[in-house]
Amino acid sequence: MNCLLCNGRTDRNPSWARLFSDKGFPVVCEGCRKGFLPAESQPPLSDWDGTPYAGMLERAVSLFAYNEPMKEFLHQYKFLKDVALSRVFKSELAEAIRLSGGQAVPIPMHPDRLNERTFAHVEEMLRAARVPYADLLEKTAPVTLGRMNRQERIQADRLFRLRSGIRDVRGEYVLVDDLYTTGTTVHHAAAVLRQAGADKVSAVTLIRA
Ligand SMILES: [Zn+2]
Repeated sequence: MNCLLCNGRTDRNPSWARLFSDKGFPVVCEGCRKGFLPAESQPPLSDWDGTPYAGMLERAVSLFAYNEPMKEFLHQYKFLKDVALSRVFKSELAEAIRLSGGQAVPIPMHPDRLNERTFAHVEEMLRAARVPYADLLEKTAPVTLGRMNRQERIQADRLFRLRSGIRDVRGEYVLVDDLYTTGTTVHHAAAVLRQAGADKVSAVTLIRA
């Protein structure tokens, strides 16, 4: 099998291949794999102390650092729309979600954004990882958080609401997203679930940016 990222062979090292495999076959080569480094730090939830969002998230875990290989991966996956790449981190994502405990809930894209992108990148990763998930949330506005300062992010209107028809969300949930940058996205999403009755909400993000 050939590497989904560089097209090189993936099966030179059988013991390694078993670890990151897709039905026994690795989807990226060892060289590409080594470019992805563990996140250097975990999301600092204490940044949200003293705001209305304090305590909304039980815990947050990020798996990988936002280094050059990861930036290239995301570009190829999200912007060049290479949907096959949804499989690259499936084992790690599945394991992190399992450890967090609870029903996986993908962070949704705004429908306008989904039309541009053609596929929902977080949901595709969950499908590839064979993690069952519940689509509980919808995005209210195609807001770009990048230009907001901290105060603006805290005061911003909720970025999400429950999908219509969904009322009872008691239980434990794991929000899943690609990037944790300031934490605004997952905190806004967690607040919606908590206010609708969720007992516990945690977050798993592929990357700590
Ligand atoms: Zn490769």
